[in-house]
Amino acid sequence: MRKIQMVDLKGQYEEIKEEVNASFEEVLETTAFINGPKVHQFQKNLEAYLDVKHVIPCANGTDALQIAMMGLGLKPGDEVITADFTFAATVEVIALLQLTPVLVDVNEDDFNINIEALKEAITPKTKAIVPVHLFGQCANMEAIMEIAKEHNLFVIEDTAQAIGANYTYKNGTKAKAGTIGNVGATSFFPSKNLGCYGDGGAIFTNDDELAHTIRGIVNHGMYERYHHDVVGVNSRLDSLQAAVLDAKLPRLNSYNKKRQVAARKYNQAFKGIEGVIIPKVSNGCLDICDTCDCHVFHQYTLRLVGIDRDALVKHLNEKSIPCGVYYPIPLHKQKAYADTRYNESDFTVTNQLVKEVISLPMHTELDNEQINYITNTILNYING
Ligand SMILES: *Cc1c(COP(=O)(O)O)cnc(C)c1O
Repeated sequence: MRKIQMVDLKGQYEEIKEEVNASFEEVLETTAFINGPKVHQFQKNLEAYLDVKHVIPCANGTDALQIAMMGLGLKPGDEVITADFTFAATVEVIALLQLTPVLVDVNEDDFNINIEALKEAITPKTKAIVPVHLFGQCANMEAIMEIAKEHNLFVIEDTAQAIGANYTYKNGTKAKAGTIGNVGATSFFPSKNLGCYGDGGAIFTNDDELAHTIRGIVNHGMYERYHHDVVGVNSRLDSLQAAVLDAKLPRLNSYNKKRQVAARKYNQAFKGIEGVIIPKVSNGCLDICDTCDCHVFHQYTLRLVGIDRDALVKHLNEKSIPCGVYYPIPLHKQKAYADTRYNESDFTVTNQLVKEVISLPMHTELDNEQINYITNTILNYING
């Protein structure tokens, strides 16, 4: 059996090696390292794939979130609501811009922001909501957009983990994750569903004016060379990364499909096992759908109830099975983001999830032998 990895970037590279290497060489020969033709080509192709008017590439996903918030003109003191159960980047940029982060609880079944908690957190100072499409499936965007409209709030989608996922509205129409709110932010970190070979990110929007503002912000606030109209940042996608991304983009659907196939095999093994809760696929899907792409499984995350999660993690590591705990500490308990405003009773779900979750190896190169070994090892452990 091949060694099991949490993410197998090498195996994926082998398949696209010739194309990527040729593309790299092209960039090296033209020496257009920043904002070269490859970046423009990738931007256009991603706009077409997402069916969004504007993609603005940038240096990483954290920058994408920050620049989106700068572009919307959020001001110090504005309250921004986001989920307590996510990667810190989301709340970090809110704090960095001196906006006020307001963390709220999530759903125990799909791990995404809880709509009732979101509603309760709204005050006259609230200016924006940042739903995070955690582990590869969209938050309840229809409800979020309704709330945003009612209270005149911006919606910034953190779609770092859900690129390529579809959101299905009640009436059956679909939209790609990150293209529903005012603006979407994604990451091309190597382990993400569409990953490059270094850092990369992008911002999506259908708003022409916002797109124009953001294009200046990513480049030192310049709209005309050496005229700095607004305070900007230096955040660009380099051409070598764009070359990798443009080679991978046509394969993104098949990459996501491979993740779904692995998730289905995991589900089959764990369905009905006492103490093991398989991930819920929301958005109208009863099981993992073959065609709708409502969950692209950036992570495959189980909840363990009445099973010692940390002991299982240790056991799996001893059996050469890597696994992850995303995330072990709720953001409201992190030193940097703790606040006396928060009551523990408002975070019952996150406080529980951090003790229960375990994410299994998930990538495009998992084979049956590896999956069987992983599921059998876990089931044998549970059955003691
Ligand atoms: C990865 C990630 C980010 C940040 O992306 P970087 O490219 O690493 O800066 C932001 N939000 C979420 C939910 C992520 O998973």
